[in-house]
Amino acid sequence: MSASKLICSCYDAGHPWTTSCADSAVGVGAIAFKQSLRIYTSVYLLSYVARGKKPVPADIKKLLRGILQSSAFLGFNGFGFIGSFCAVRYFSGGFTKFNAGFLPAFIGSFLAILIERPSRRGQLALYVTNVASESVWRMLVARGIVKSVRHGEVLVFMLTLAALVPWYRRCTSSRDSVYSLSRFIIGGSERFSAPIYPDHGNRRCTKHALCKHKNSCIYYMLEGFVKKFIAGYGIHAGFRFILSFANLLRNPRLITKIVSNMDNVKFGLFVGGISGIVRSVLCNLRWITGKDRPEHGVIAGFLGGLPMLFYKSTTLASYLMWKTIEVVYREGIQAGKLPAIPGFIEFLYSFSTAMLFHMAVFEPHNLKPSYWKFLVNLTDLRFAQMNRQVLDLILPKASSSVPFWPKYEADHVSQELRSMFGLNPHFSMTS
Ligand SMILES: [Zn+2]
Ligand SMILES: [Zn+2]
Repeated sequence: MSASKLICSCYDAGHPWTTSCADSAVGVGAIAFKQSLRIYTSVYLLSYVARGKKPVPADIKKLLRGILQSSAFLGFNGFGFIGSFCAVRYFSGGFTKFNAGFLPAFIGSFLAILIERPSRRGQLALYVTNVASESVWRMLVARGIVKSVRHGEVLVFMLTLAALVPWYRRCTSSRDSVYSLSRFIIGGSERFSAPIYPDHGNRRCTKHALCKHKNSCIYYMLEGFVKKFIAGYGIHAGFRFILSFANLLRNPRLITKIVSNMDNVKFGLFVGGISGIVRSVLCNLRWITGKDRPEHGVIAGFLGGLPMLFYKSTTLASYLMWKTIEVVYREGIQAGKLPAIPGFIEFLYSFSTAMLFHMAVFEPHNLKPSYWKFLVNLTDLRFAQMNRQVLDLILPKASSSVPFWPKYEADHVSQELRSMFGLNPHFSMTS
């Protein structure tokens, strides 16, 4: 039997490592800030190095400011969550399904995201929304509300490309990463704004009058597949090389294993397949219909998503889906077709983070495992040290994957907890 409201203290359920609410909020905030400094230093440095610019003093100042601001944001998110957790319990007198995870996380995240640079907020909102959607899906599957669909991620990916390819073809230019990625995989000549490459009356070069690419259609389709297969293979092998660099120094023979790994081939087939299929469908439709219509991109994109069968990834499919929704939505705002909602990004970040925190508090077993690991590391294990056996009383199975029972200070445990767990054999207290 689960209760709708659990009457106990926040020391009992939320922060059993310290009896003081202020200590726990400030402590978690400080730990999260320290861990964030480590995370963001590598993130910012890597992205700076990837841009390949010569370092100048002004850049370094900007980099340091960025690292500090982002760490302050994440640190404050930790502080704000615990602070609101205790405040909400104080004012409502107990814990419910809603106010022990979702509500305090929403308040904490909303205040925290205002600290982060506005230009980074969209990216963060997209990231947490992606993780939240994956986690909510796992939660629904676990409850038997939806059935896990075979090849579901492939279908999502196909539908996403069915929207993304037409968007890319309409685009004249964009600084968005998804635009550069589409251009890299599909090529520049499928954009409606691209100039037609003259065929100089070369008889052997059979291409449709509406095709803007350089060589014959057959060459163009094969080129798409082969070049992107090699690129995909190389990128995948390169990533593996970097990730296992330390091991390689110790055992150089590993290199053959890295180069010949089947996953490289699969990733090559995935990337090359998208390029080959999208190009083939578009060229063929031009030949068949004698036109180059926007709808062709929908068919080309949908079929172009099939190669995900070679390289299945829920994270990739779901991330690209949210990214596509974002760019199409932004396009709609610019065209005046969709309303621009002020504060939407901040709301989305807070809502998705609140969903994730609700799950982290009440059902960490359904949370995406990498996100749970991130939260536990960010708080130096504190997140795993809540007493979820108490929370079981509101939402059964809350403690099923983290059955942690804290060592309490006897004279600080609430009377309610004593009477609820008085007979529990695990109930040990230290004074
Ligand atoms: Zn408290
Ligand atoms: Zn063609």
